[in-house]
Amino acid sequence: MTAVFILVDALGWELVKDRRFLLEELPYRQAVETIFGFSSGAIPSILTGLLPEGHGHWNLFLYSPHSSPFRWARPLTRLPARWRNHRAVRKLVSIIGRRLSGADGYFSIYGIPVELLPYFDICEKDNIYRPRGLAPNVSIFDQLQRAGITYRVYCYHDYDDAAAVRAILRDLRDRAAQFYFLYLCGLDAFLHDHIYSVESVSREMERYESWIRGIFRVALEADAHAAFYVFSDHGMTPVRESFDLMEAVRALGLREPEEYLALYDSTMARFWFFNDRARCAVTELLGSLPYGRVVRREERRRLGIAFCDDRFGELVYAMRPGCLIHPSYMGGNRWKGMHGFDPEHPTSYAALLARQEPPVPVRHIRDLFALMLREAGL
Ligand SMILES: [Zn+2]
Repeated sequence: MTAVFILVDALGWELVKDRRFLLEELPYRQAVETIFGFSSGAIPSILTGLLPEGHGHWNLFLYSPHSSPFRWARPLTRLPARWRNHRAVRKLVSIIGRRLSGADGYFSIYGIPVELLPYFDICEKDNIYRPRGLAPNVSIFDQLQRAGITYRVYCYHDYDDAAAVRAILRDLRDRAAQFYFLYLCGLDAFLHDHIYSVESVSREMERYESWIRGIFRVALEADAHAAFYVFSDHGMTPVRESFDLMEAVRALGLREPEEYLALYDSTMARFWFFNDRARCAVTELLGSLPYGRVVRREERRRLGIAFCDDRFGELVYAMRPGCLIHPSYMGGNRWKGMHGFDPEHPTSYAALLARQEPPVPVRHIRDLFALMLREAGL
């Protein structure tokens, strides 16, 4: 048995549907619904078959002052603003925070101000591409290990995309494993900056196509019946406008962190309130803005982000697709493309490419878990 699963970050259905991308090798193609959120929530859904409220991973930062790996940085908040958020201080806070959190997974403090970090913890503590990385939930890698199926994983923890491709080619030639999971992340970064440049997007996609075509050929030489799938975790939405939500909230004159806390995640903002004045003022402001909407409780349940507590946000404000919070804590870049908008928007959909119709229906990215199990013979 040989099964190859290739996750191409941000290879959305919009990019694939009108292109001949790998059409000869993988003639079966379909759109796949993603989660509301980012890769930090989407990839755990692929690996466990659960929605974010089930596996507990959503946006990287969550409210948890007691477990925050940045608690020690509280005295720094007394420094003048220009010092506490100086590049060198931020770097130090990031390095020490990473060590204290024991984080072995993806880690970044993004652009979150140093004075706010002590209120937050991160949800990805372990390398999710290893067994027990998503404990207490069971991931595909736990299942493979339990069943004694030999497998290899290639991702940004150990390789850049080119090196990952070289490594899987070598292992396939050596018939080193039965199950291969390759995660290519470079297209995502490229699309964030270049989604409007049709020519350069096509060139970049050709680069990925030729890499994957090479892997496909070698996989079929190893096993003519190899299961071979290319899929993504989400799409990419062209950014058309932005709004400075941070400034609008600050103009309310509320005190942060005493009265409220907010994280501005570029396509959504998340709030925690410590008094009614703050809750009312922010809710009223958000209700008056034409740039997005408050995600209601029933919608949160439908999206699988109705966490049993409000650690990921008491109030979630979703920007309308194509309209970005700028500036945001996801960096001061003027992104040309972004993901993490409404999953029902056409540009949000992920893609699945295969040799033939999959043996289990894949409607949502979480269904990829069942597909991987099936192809592994489990
Ligand atoms: Zn991205």
